[in-house]
Amino acid sequence: MKIKQTRNAQLFEEPLIFEHSEAGKVGFTIDNSDLEDIQLDLKEEIIRKDFNLPEVSEPEVVRHFTRLSTWNYGIDLGFYPLGSCTMKYNPRINEEIANHKYFLNLHPSLQQKYIQPLLKLIYELQNFIKILTDMPAVTLQPAAGAHGELTGIFLIRAYHQARGNTKKDTILIPDSAHGTNPATCTFAGYKVKELKSTKEGMLDLDLFKSSLNDNIAALMITNPNTLGVFEAQIKEISDLLHQNDALLYMDGANYNAIIGKISLSKMGIDVSHLNLHKTFSTPHGGGGPGAGAVVVSERLKDFLPGPIVEWDKEKNQYYFYTPEKSIGRVKAGIGHIGMMIRALTYILSWGNEIHKIAEHSVLNANLIRRELENVLKVASENPSMHEVVFSHSTLKKLGYETIHLAKTLIDYGFHPPTVYFPLIVPGAIMIEPTETESPDTILAFTNAIKDIITRMENKEEALKDSPHNAFVQKIDEAEIARNPILNYFTK
Ligand SMILES: *Cc1c(COP(=O)(O)O)cnc(C)c1O
Repeated sequence: MKIKQTRNAQLFEEPLIFEHSEAGKVGFTIDNSDLEDIQLDLKEEIIRKDFNLPEVSEPEVVRHFTRLSTWNYGIDLGFYPLGSCTMKYNPRINEEIANHKYFLNLHPSLQQKYIQPLLKLIYELQNFIKILTDMPAVTLQPAAGAHGELTGIFLIRAYHQARGNTKKDTILIPDSAHGTNPATCTFAGYKVKELKSTKEGMLDLDLFKSSLNDNIAALMITNPNTLGVFEAQIKEISDLLHQNDALLYMDGANYNAIIGKISLSKMGIDVSHLNLHKTFSTPHGGGGPGAGAVVVSERLKDFLPGPIVEWDKEKNQYYFYTPEKSIGRVKAGIGHIGMMIRALTYILSWGNEIHKIAEHSVLNANLIRRELENVLKVASENPSMHEVVFSHSTLKKLGYETIHLAKTLIDYGFHPPTVYFPLIVPGAIMIEPTETESPDTILAFTNAIKDIITRMENKEEALKDSPHNAFVQKIDEAEIARNPILNYFTK
């Protein structure tokens, strides 16, 4: 296979904007002769004279920023196989609707009677999320997944406190959990007891049973878990917890795999967060902000943060409501409205077909598994859901590491997958294609991986110094962490 040249090498040699600078060059053509008439009443000593801004022409500025944009890799340029991350596409219609002038020009402090259509929108999103999870109540306030976790753990604490149960000071968490889970519990003041997973990466039921005692407030489990595997014993797990007056938190960040397919209530879940910036396609990472909706069972409903939007059927009016025993606000305002509009747009654009998100994301992950399981060792023999995790064992045998595979993929024009997470898989390679990719894209990606492994079998040493065609070549990761160059002038 021919290696795709991912970047135009010539562009890299272009000088940066400061080097184009020449005293007196201007980037505008407005007549400013009348500026002299303006009296600036500023004291000499407060006027800064050390501004070292480049003086450049308009075309130079435009070219500078356009060039910078080509040095980046983005979702609009290619496939993002990152695992435990979900959505890597932000549908354009979401943006169009969120940017509608009605929404954009609303003042955050407007009275409820002036924002009835907006409240209706939030009410509908609340309802859709309740229907999609089959849970009785939801808050849309939290600003991210981890923030939703914290809200959920606060709810669990409020529940035990309201029942006068002061012994509950520990939360059980499997060792396959996302790092935010133990961090959240510790931050909320709980002790964390880690449960070692089985060799298939599942919750160890015997270990779980023997860890249950009066001090356990809850179990926090991700389902499907970070190995992309469904914890099929979830109902047995929730029954055992409830018999011990403990609750079940399900990290629902991987909800794509099961949306429209299963009922959280029937699984016995008490609280779960869904990432609108993952499952529901709102911008992610640098494109944030996020939104972490939290759904709860009847047990926790009365403690939810307010305001929640309710509907007065008789008056046909929407209004804000805060439950009496509420833990209080977790966020200013109603939450990230822009994300709610986008998420609702995504839900409505699927309509009655929304379960296809689960079908397509599971199908795509399994296409990757089928293509790669003969060349890489899959981390769990159990069926894959929305993502598939491989270990580094094949690469190790050939004398290479996961990092070499990941960095060489950049030379093929692909963003690397998530690597070295989950921690329980040696040299993990975690791939999540999501529902939005076509089989052609997926096969181009798996063919690139197969090609790299063939080159590893041929002992191509250069692969250890990948990437070779990227704007930034192999970096000294330790040096970068110790002595970062944070601006142009310290270079
Ligand atoms: C992404 C993720 C989180 C955290 O969500 P943020 O919005 O990044 O805070 C928690 N758990 C799992 C399994 C995740 O994938």
